[in-house]
Amino acid sequence: MTTILEQGNISIHTENIFPIIKKWLYSDHEIFLRELISNAVDAIQKLSMVARSGGYSGNLEPEIQIAIDKEKKTLSISDTGIGMTADEVKKYINQVAFSSAEEFVEKYKSSADQQIIGHFGLGFYSSFMVASKVEIDTLSYQEGAQAVHWSCDGSTQFELSDSSRTERGTTVTLTLQDEELEYLEASRIQQLIKTYCDFMPVPIRLDGEQINQQKAPWKESPNSLTKEDYLEFYRYFYPFQEEPLLWVHLNTDYPFVVNGILYFPKLKPDVDVTKGQIKLFCNQVFVSDNCEEVIPRFLLPLRGVIDSSDIPLNVSRSFLQNDRTVRRIADYIAKKVGDRLKELYRDDRQEYIRGWQDLGTFVKFGSLNDDKFKKQVEDILIYRTTWQGKETQTFADAPEVQVQSAEGDAWQDISPKPEADGTPSGTASYTTLKEYLERNQSRHENRVFYCTDEVTQATYVELHKSQGLEVLFMDSFIDSHFVSFLEREHPEVKFSRVDADLDETLIDSDKSSEIVDPTTNKTRGEQIKELFQQALNKPKLTIRTEALKSDNEAAPPAMVLLPEALRRMQELNALLQQQTAQFPEEHVLLVNTAHPLIQNLTKLSQGSILQTAGQSPSGELANLICQHVYDLALMAQKGFDADGMKAFVERSNQVLTRLTQN
Ligand code: ADP
Repeated sequence: MTTILEQGNISIHTENIFPIIKKWLYSDHEIFLRELISNAVDAIQKLSMVARSGGYSGNLEPEIQIAIDKEKKTLSISDTGIGMTADEVKKYINQVAFSSAEEFVEKYKSSADQQIIGHFGLGFYSSFMVASKVEIDTLSYQEGAQAVHWSCDGSTQFELSDSSRTERGTTVTLTLQDEELEYLEASRIQQLIKTYCDFMPVPIRLDGEQINQQKAPWKESPNSLTKEDYLEFYRYFYPFQEEPLLWVHLNTDYPFVVNGILYFPKLKPDVDVTKGQIKLFCNQVFVSDNCEEVIPRFLLPLRGVIDSSDIPLNVSRSFLQNDRTVRRIADYIAKKVGDRLKELYRDDRQEYIRGWQDLGTFVKFGSLNDDKFKKQVEDILIYRTTWQGKETQTFADAPEVQVQSAEGDAWQDISPKPEADGTPSGTASYTTLKEYLERNQSRHENRVFYCTDEVTQATYVELHKSQGLEVLFMDSFIDSHFVSFLEREHPEVKFSRVDADLDETLIDSDKSSEIVDPTTNKTRGEQIKELFQQALNKPKLTIRTEALKSDNEAAPPAMVLLPEALRRMQELNALLQQQTAQFPEEHVLLVNTAHPLIQNLTKLSQGSILQTAGQSPSGELANLICQHVYDLALMAQKGFDADGMKAFVERSNQVLTRLTQN
């Protein structure tokens, strides 16, 4: 026989919040379980605190039990925590919990269009989202305490009576509404526990079986975790993914509490780098699948967990972004990530280089976006280079290059770098910009040659290499922005793509001005230019003739140049119109007058230029070959479309036929 101790109204305000909780917070009903389990964990932790301070000496046996009764349509959550006395129920449940739920509802109402992060703050009363009746059966840890039973049917009326309970702790029993019976399915409960409560520090049991992981690796000391522990944790959250390249364990208590493990994943081209994948936790309780508001934008592609009780959660996401503590936490995270990268650069250069393809994208993106981060990492930005270090590179005509200086050597990635088809392509060397500039100071002071596509720009790279000019590879998708950034950072340095122009070192200027036709006073260059102009007949094309150094076997008969400024304008326009840059019609065809093919061509066309071009058989052949030389130069840059390919093949056959005629 239970005695009713008290019946009464919960609310001091007359307005009834229950219909709002039930109907209005229609989405995310499932969070009630997280709220109740969090309360249970709190109660268990409170008791162990009391025990530690000597206020309790009995067994602790921390544990949460979930029980389902399909017949009665009830779901109950029991803990072995601190429990409550009748007075505490009145105070904490009827007053504190109720008014904070009321406050939450008020807040939610005023920002209904904004998503409140994780719906934190509703607490105990969130159970009325799914229950038509909620009961609390509880026995306080205090000696001689009387167990009490509280019940409420979702009106502001409550009932409080004595209970016959004998075990310390609290059981919250929900009688589920008919439309919420999914919470009677064990699989649904298991799924919710896995989502929200997996890392809560107390065992959670369903039908006697523990259903949560319990251990949160990010709360542990980094020293106690092995590499395998970190990898296992990564696989747990991101199964079937490639192993991460690197991780950072965050661990601070002051001036705010932040724990977490962040991983640098391998970047796949299809990864949406604007979508966060870092999970947000608060005291080991899952809050949200991403924390885009907390993490600096450039770190969004990172994965892992951030756990902080200092991030306000019952606020809207937009509020969060402007919160001062959150900003400071974001700065802290960026700083830690930078430190970790610097540490790897310092302690394990090979590993750093091996991961650079992916790490580099973060570092560059971060440098572009965050000034503080930029300062942190500017000295560890590296570039793949054609420079092979003193062992492999010889400079016949460059005695001033200081190959002896250790500073000047590029470091090599000794692991074979597989090509797309899986075949190893030997070693790749890396350098910093500072080292590049120092190494090349006497040859081309403050000039950087770079290549954005190793395949289409192969001829140009080869040509530079053959003259001892060092070329950096800037071939990741972020590099076109990054080159502009580097130019702003180093205004004294000029960056030119290998196909933008030719460095003077590549040109034999004596030969270029050699007069070959005494009657017309024309240089060979002028003659050849006319020949090509007539043969190609492209008004937008600029034809330039130069004698490339003849000792240079890499020098082709002709090459297409895209002046740096013009190309960038084109790229910018394409970017603004969200298109990929087209190959510009205005480009330069540089014809190498020192190449035997071009010299033969002049002889072939001799006479016919001055008369009616292309009319004599040899003149016609010369014309065809001019077009062919141009196509070959273009081919290296952009390939052919269907029409271009057809014309090229047809002409090839024509030229070959003519060449084999006599
Ligand atoms: P919060 O947990 O944010 O304080 P709640 O509305 O969830 O807000 O709970 C209000 C109060 O009720 C708690 O602070 C606690 O004192 C008490 N309480 C709730 N659940 C339990 C429980 N399982 N055991 C002991 N006390 C509880």
